[in-house]
Amino acid sequence: MTFWGPDFDELRATDPEVADGLLVELERQRSKLQLIASENFASPAVMAAQGSVLTNKYAEGYPGRRYYGGCGEAIDPIEQLAIDRAKSLFGAEHANVQPHSGASANLAVFLAVLQPGDPVLAMSLPHGGHLSHGMKVNLSGKWFDVASYGVREDTGRIDMDEVREKALAHRPKLIIAGWSAYQRHLDFAAFRSIADEVGAVLLCDASHFVGLVAGGAHPSPVPHCDIVTFTTHKALRGPRGAMILCREPWAAAIDKAVFPGSQGGPLEHVIAAKAVALKEADTPEYRAYARRIVDDASALADAMIGRGYDVVSGGTETHLFLADVTPTGTTGAEAEARCDEAGIVLNKNAIPFDPLPPAKASGIRIGTPCLATQGMGPAEMPTVADLIDRAVRGDEAERRAVRAEVGELVGRFPVYPRPPAS
Ligand SMILES: *Cc1c(COP(=O)(O)O)cnc(C)c1O
Repeated sequence: MTFWGPDFDELRATDPEVADGLLVELERQRSKLQLIASENFASPAVMAAQGSVLTNKYAEGYPGRRYYGGCGEAIDPIEQLAIDRAKSLFGAEHANVQPHSGASANLAVFLAVLQPGDPVLAMSLPHGGHLSHGMKVNLSGKWFDVASYGVREDTGRIDMDEVREKALAHRPKLIIAGWSAYQRHLDFAAFRSIADEVGAVLLCDASHFVGLVAGGAHPSPVPHCDIVTFTTHKALRGPRGAMILCREPWAAAIDKAVFPGSQGGPLEHVIAAKAVALKEADTPEYRAYARRIVDDASALADAMIGRGYDVVSGGTETHLFLADVTPTGTTGAEAEARCDEAGIVLNKNAIPFDPLPPAKASGIRIGTPCLATQGMGPAEMPTVADLIDRAVRGDEAERRAVRAEVGELVGRFPVYPRPPAS
């Protein structure tokens, strides 16, 4: 055997406590319904690249321009592969594959584009924006002058006339299009024309939906935006990490802002896993997967509406939706806890114009990337909706019954299949 890689028995011998923790987590992922919209099941190939000897290598700098020796044989070609695949898959002029996380990628963009105190326009957090887009306690909110746009109360959708008015009033240097909880396509062309009108740089944070873009199941922000950031571990199904795509004039500033501007040594084992995920995403199977995610979300949203839940904006075009649980007489926090008891993992989420504080919230956020990875299709979604509804409305005995049915359902769609019994 010429390969040396992770050995679970080795871990178990060295550190049984951590090994046991991994097994508990594996069982949790296998045995429950995973509906957290930002999660997925990375492939064994992605995890093999991530759990490799590449973790041992320092590689500050970029391919061909490193501050450490020993990068030429393997590290440079692997990082270059990730860069080339990202550019080709998304049709981008430049790619930086080093950001450790989505928040780090956005930080690097701020460093490249803004000075402290500069005006920024982004989607408001309670309406579905991300904390790195100007939340008061986040660096983005502390160091920049952030104005926010939201969705209309009557439609649950972003109103581009409102975005334009806010941009004209606030004169942002940077406009951020992107979200963590929104169920509609963004109008990238309208964002572009507003950015041009006020002379702003246009950033799309595509973290949530980039996996759909990769599979052709969602419009691409790349042709419209100066810069696109995204995480690689959500619907895209890669390792935990992020990337930045940009137009050529921004390339040098973005690379400088990532390293040495805001990060040190890149995580080359994670970059290798990003390369693997990008290869996996460039296949007919992945394109069918991306389509299934969206079809599942749409079928599940319809089934929830059929059971009396208000889905924000009346449905979804993406991989997720927010369901208002108020009609069931409970709160988002209580619904989350009841679902957890029944083996259904999802998160409470504020709905736009939520009368409740964020710790309680009126809604739950439901996403389908995990279900679709398991192979569940729209045909399974009425069953999933029924299980959620009974967990939320039922008593403890009902939740025990749901827990058993969840086990039966996920048993038919196994993730990380168990080895055959010998
Ligand atoms: C998930 C997410 C991020 C943050 O990613 P981390 O890797 O958790 O830092 C950034 N932006 C958006 C829009 C996200 O949804």
